[in-house]
Amino acid sequence: MPVREMTDHECMDCLSKGHVGHLACSRDGVPYIVPIHYAYGIEKLYAFSMPGQKIDWLRSNPHACIQVEERSDHRLWKSVVVQGQFRELPDTPEHHTERIHAWDLLQERELWWEPGYLRPDESAQAVATPIFFGIVVDQISGRQTF
Ligand SMILES: Cc1cc2nc3c(=O)[nH]c(=O)nc-3n(C[C@H](O)[C@H](O)[C@H](O)COP(=O)(O)OP(=O)(O)OC[C@H]3O[C@@H](n4cnc5c(N)ncnc54)[C@H](O)[C@@H]3O)c2cc1C
Repeated sequence: MPVREMTDHECMDCLSKGHVGHLACSRDGVPYIVPIHYAYGIEKLYAFSMPGQKIDWLRSNPHACIQVEERSDHRLWKSVVVQGQFRELPDTPEHHTERIHAWDLLQERELWWEPGYLRPDESAQAVATPIFFGIVVDQISGRQTF
C-alpha cells in the first residue's frame, strides 16, 4: 500500500476529528510518552491533567510532541505528528478566556476528564488541582496510506 505526505490542511482535519493522541516529553535526555485526550483549537491542542510526571517534565522542558492517528482498517491509516511548546493555562484573570475556550472544546467529548483524573492513589486525586494546558503548534507533518 503506498504512502504519501499529507497537506497541512489534511493534518489539521485529522487533528480536529481525533481526540486521543500520544503526548511525548523529555527531561535530562530521557523520553516519556502517555496517551492523552486533547481538543484541537487553532494552532493549539488543549488538554487537561492532574499533577504528575508529564506536567513536572513539561514544566521543566516545554518541548513536546503529540502523535495522532486515524485508522479505517489495518492497512489504511493517517498519522499526524505535531511538535510544539507546552503552555500552562493557570486559573488567573490573564488566562481566563483561553481556559474557558479549552474547557468548551474539551467538554464536547463525553467523560473527557475521567482518564486524566484517575490515579492509582485515590487520595491524591481528591486534593490535587486540575491543570489545563495547550501545546502551541510549531511544526506539523502527516502521512497516510491510500
Ligand atoms: C485513552 C486514554 C486517554 C487519556 N486521557 C488523559 C487525559 O486527557 N489527561 C491525562 O492527564 N491523562 C489521560 N490519560 C492517562 C494518562 O495516559 C496517564 O496515565 C496519566 O495522565 C498519568 O500520567 P502522569 O505522567 O501524571 O503519571 P504519574 O501518575 O505521575 O505516574 C508516573 C509513573 O506512572 C507510569 N505511568 C503513568 N501513566 C501511564 C500509562 N498511561 N501507562 C503506563 N504507565 C504509566 C509512568 O511510566 C511513570 O513511571 C489517558 C489514558 C488513556 C488510555
